[in-house]
Parts: sequence; structure tokens; C-alpha cells
Amino acid sequence: MHNAILVLNAGSSSIKFSLFVARDHELDLDCRGQIEGIYTAPRFSAKDAAGKRLSERSWGEGTKLGHDGALAHLLEFLHGELAEYRLVGVGHRVVHGALEYTQPVRVDQEIVAKLAKLIPLAPLHQPHNLAPIRTLLERMPDLPQVATFDTSFHRTNPPLAQRFAIPVELHDAGIQRYGFHGLSYEYVASVLPQYDARAAAGKAIVLHLGNGASMCAFEASRSVASTMGFTALEGLMMGTRSGAIDPGVLIYLMDERGMDARAIEKLLYNQSGLLGVSGVSSDMRALLASDEPRARLAVDLYLYRIRREMGSLAGALGGVDAIVFTAGIGENSAAIRERVLADAAWLGVRPNKAANAKGGPRISAATSRVSAWAIPTNEELMIARHTRRILGV
Ligand code: ADP
Repeated sequence: MHNAILVLNAGSSSIKFSLFVARDHELDLDCRGQIEGIYTAPRFSAKDAAGKRLSERSWGEGTKLGHDGALAHLLEFLHGELAEYRLVGVGHRVVHGALEYTQPVRVDQEIVAKLAKLIPLAPLHQPHNLAPIRTLLERMPDLPQVATFDTSFHRTNPPLAQRFAIPVELHDAGIQRYGFHGLSYEYVASVLPQYDARAAAGKAIVLHLGNGASMCAFEASRSVASTMGFTALEGLMMGTRSGAIDPGVLIYLMDERGMDARAIEKLLYNQSGLLGVSGVSSDMRALLASDEPRARLAVDLYLYRIRREMGSLAGALGGVDAIVFTAGIGENSAAIRERVLADAAWLGVRPNKAANAKGGPRISAATSRVSAWAIPTNEELMIARHTRRILGV
């Protein structure tokens, strides 16, 4: 009987899962899926590794399954799936590990209590990430669990890159640049040598363009700078998040509009970005297909912000050998990649338009001094690999 590892990514309204089976040195995906709308109108779906539907269920509008109810349904589904395998561990995506967790860690009650202290650093994500860990510790105390962190990969950033220009006591109290999307970047770093050995040993800029979006500067496949900072709000324009904004705007909104912290949080996390500027959608596909001038403006601003941050990270690196695209938009949108590469021509990158239209992986011309790639990320596999290693299974 093969060992299996369950990977959970719990958010405020959904739990995503993947089940991996350990065969020799490989981890093979067995099935994946999610329960969405867990506090509103829950919907469960699971597919096998080939994308074939395995199970679906919807609960009525107004049903509040919550994290516990959703997890219970998931475990019920997995019971059947696990008839052939032995579940040896669960790996969790946890957004914040602050400075202490530079590596994944096996969790117990004491560590969960420490991670809960970080909730103020990521109030919209951390409590939800911890919810299934707590439930499983109570209900299945013998099942080993591992927390993996979106911040860990960036702990190799030089001290200056992690610092804001604020008084020392605030820095010492933890107000620093942490960086996020680390599991995605770590996965890309792990496969980059297979695509481009020169880039893996040299300087690369990786663009994780999903609903959340950030860019990371790699030196020898280690993070040396990132566009995200203290929170996942910093840097690029995203689906519904503003990205970088003059902090003076926040003071103005408080003074002149009487907005409090919660109202500003809602504005900057949920009502800004592609959605706020376009007034149409947070979904890049919808915006690219729209003729609305505001949809075009949103896409133009999205690209302009990438162009600016490209210069910033190239400056931090002092040169660039490769540009790598990943995540939903980065992997799938040839149009966005084409425009990003055109904007980055000054760095010495020359696209191969036909290869880009086909989705790569190599999307730069043979003569390009800077190579360019579209490489699918796999955060779940990264979490499963860490979990297997930490548990020694
Ligand atoms: P998350 O950050 O939630 O994991 P994803 O990485 O799946 O998100 O990215 C979601 C984004 O990818 C959405 O904005 C979606 O519109 C975009 N996307 C997916 N496929 C395409 C495509 N073919 N063209 C443009 N955008 C796409």
C-alpha cells in the first residue's frame, strides 16, 4: 500500500485540496478539488489527475458549512479515495511564518499558538489557514501535519531589502518586508535548472501573475527581492488589490473621508486593482475580451505597474539573464506576456512570438540576450514535497 499526502490550502471562503501518492522518489497527483462558498452556498468538486470529474455536491444558498463542516465533507470524500492508500501526513499552506519560520515545520498545539500570534500580520488569510490544522489536531491527533509558509523563500533577501525606512523600534517589532507567493517561487526555482541552467545560476525575474500578483528577483535561484512587502497588498496591481499606493492616500482617506481601518482594508483588498479600475471584472480574461475603455485602462495600468517593477527588480539585481512567467495569467495569457516582454525590450529580451502564442516554455528568440519562459507553477506539489521530507515518509 502506497503512502499518500494530503495538501490543504484553506482561505476565508474555500478549502482547496490535493491528494498525492508517494511512489519511489515521485509524488503523483491522485485527485484535487475544492469546497467553495463555505459560509454562503457551498459547492464541492473533485477531479482526478487527468481532470475527470470524480464527485460534486452543492448545498443550498445560505448554508453555513464553515471550515469544520467543509473539512468533514472532504474527509468523508477522501475516505473512499484512501481505500487504496495510507494517509501519512497533511501539508498546509500558511501565508505567514514571519522571521522565525524560514523552513516548513511539523505542527503541534504549541506551534499553532505561535502561528496564531501572527494573525495581525495577515488577518485575512492566517486565521483561515490555521483553522483546519486546529481541527485535525483535535480530531486526528495522530495524523502528522506540516505547515509550509509563503514567506520562507524570501528570508534569503539581504537585510536592506527587508527594511522599511521607519524608526528602528518599529522594524524590531516586526514591521518589515516579508514577501509572499514563496511556495510558487520555490517551485519555479526547483525546476528552472531543467529549462535554463544559465538563468538558474544567474539573475532571473519571476512574475507570479494570478489573482494575487507579485514579482521576485532570483540570484542563483534564491530570492533577493520581491514586490510584496509587509502584506500581500504591496507591489503590483492585482485582481481586486491596489498594489503599491502612496501611504499619504491612506492618511487622506482617514482625514477627509472618515474611513477607518476596516473600510480602507475593504477598499484596498477587495474593491481595487483590475476590478476597481475597470468597474467590470477582476478576471483578466473578461478584461482582455472587453471593448470597454475602462477595461482597457485597467489592463494598461496593470502592464505599466509590471513595467515599473521590472525596472526596480532589475536594479536590485544589477542585470537580468531571464524573465519567467507563472500562475493563471502568466501561464495562460500570451497577450499579457507579449506586452510585458515588449515593455522589457530595454533589458535585452527579444520575444519569439510564435512560441509565445503556443505557450512556451521558451518564449524568447534564439538570439535574445535575456531568455524568457512560461513555466507552470505547482504550489501544491511543493507543499507535498516539503511535507514528505519533514515527516520522512
Ligand atoms: P490564484 O491566485 O487564485 O491561484 P490563478 O493563478 O488561477 O489564481 O489566476 C487566476 C487569474 O488567471 C484570473 O485573473 C484569470 O482570469 C487568469 N487567467 C486564467 N486563464 C487565462 C487566460 N487564458 N488568459 C488570461 N487570463 C487568464
